[in-house]
Amino acid sequence: MAPDPHMMENDRSVRNWLTELELSHPLLIAGPCSAETEQQIMETAAALARTQVSFFRAGIWKPRTRPGGFEGVGAHGLKWLQKAKAEFGLPLAVEVANATHVKIALDHDIDVLWIGARTTVNPFAVQEIADALKGTDKIVLVKNPVNPDLALWMGGIERIYQAGVRNLGAVHRGFSTYEKTTYRNIPEWQIPIELKSRLPHLPLLCDPSHITGRRDMIAEVSQQALDLTYDGLMIETHPRPDEAWSDAAQQVTPGRLKAIFEDLRLRKKESTQENFIAEIDALRSRIDLADVKLLEVLGKRMRIAEEIGQLKKSQNVAILQNQRWVDVKQKMMREGAKKGLTREFVLQLFKAIHEESIAHQQMIMNPGEGTK
Ligand code: PEP
Ligand code: MN
Repeated sequence: MAPDPHMMENDRSVRNWLTELELSHPLLIAGPCSAETEQQIMETAAALARTQVSFFRAGIWKPRTRPGGFEGVGAHGLKWLQKAKAEFGLPLAVEVANATHVKIALDHDIDVLWIGARTTVNPFAVQEIADALKGTDKIVLVKNPVNPDLALWMGGIERIYQAGVRNLGAVHRGFSTYEKTTYRNIPEWQIPIELKSRLPHLPLLCDPSHITGRRDMIAEVSQQALDLTYDGLMIETHPRPDEAWSDAAQQVTPGRLKAIFEDLRLRKKESTQENFIAEIDALRSRIDLADVKLLEVLGKRMRIAEEIGQLKKSQNVAILQNQRWVDVKQKMMREGAKKGLTREFVLQLFKAIHEESIAHQQMIMNPGEGTK
């Protein structure tokens, strides 16, 4: 019988590979977005073998958003990777998107197989991959789906777990948005944080390359991930990033990777020092009080929104007043900036508040019909 996916929550064996393989902390996976030529693979692996990298990554089959881009060199690139492993000793990591990829990757003794964001969204594809992986002791990493859906991410991980894979991990690579932001894929840190609290034994890595889409932000996002106690990083690395055949803007040179890694500040998981505990307890009490106040204010705001709902109802006026909403957003982003809050945070916060206000007004204007 297939193991119950919920068993995962208590199954400590899913964590073992990090310690069993005595991998360095934080774990570092690096290599080009795509394998391009044998020479590029050998040159990159040679340089990375002199860094703290534990696994050498390279995309062989590239899922591209639009047709016409470089779709990867295909299976023969695995021969180059094998040659690099034989020569420089770095174990290999490759993306797989279907059962054929899995079979070919396993035939080439690839050490880490990862499922990309565009594949995790599709349960049929993940199941096909899980079936092809049955019984493998290779490491399998599941990237988050492109959309911010924790259940879908967990579902993907559970499918692989149910196939008997125990050397499992998750990779956080951010989420697509329609609106342009500073990030290529917004991190939505609360989603991986929630994953971590549901599956505390599952190794969690961060891919700052696909989160940021730009090399000048890799260090900053890597540090944020370590501050959130991630177990490792996957960073795209190319000897001549600007000439890369895919994801040129976000790749760093092996030299830069080494510098980024050495500059990272490692944090202890906790401290038992008395003063620290006393101080953090006091600060947390203040946070708790502030949180209660926040909810009070939000409750008051909703009561006012309900009064507006009554008024709109009396005149049969529509709930959504678009210009008003645009004005509130703009004003609050300006006010937020004065209080040291980012535009992105203020925007997300007010979107949630606005949605809740609409739900309250809907209850008033359409009683008995129920909202979501
Ligand atoms: C990649 O790692 O090169 C890749 C395609 O990533 P993602 O699935 O996160 O887009
Ligand atoms: Mn890439």
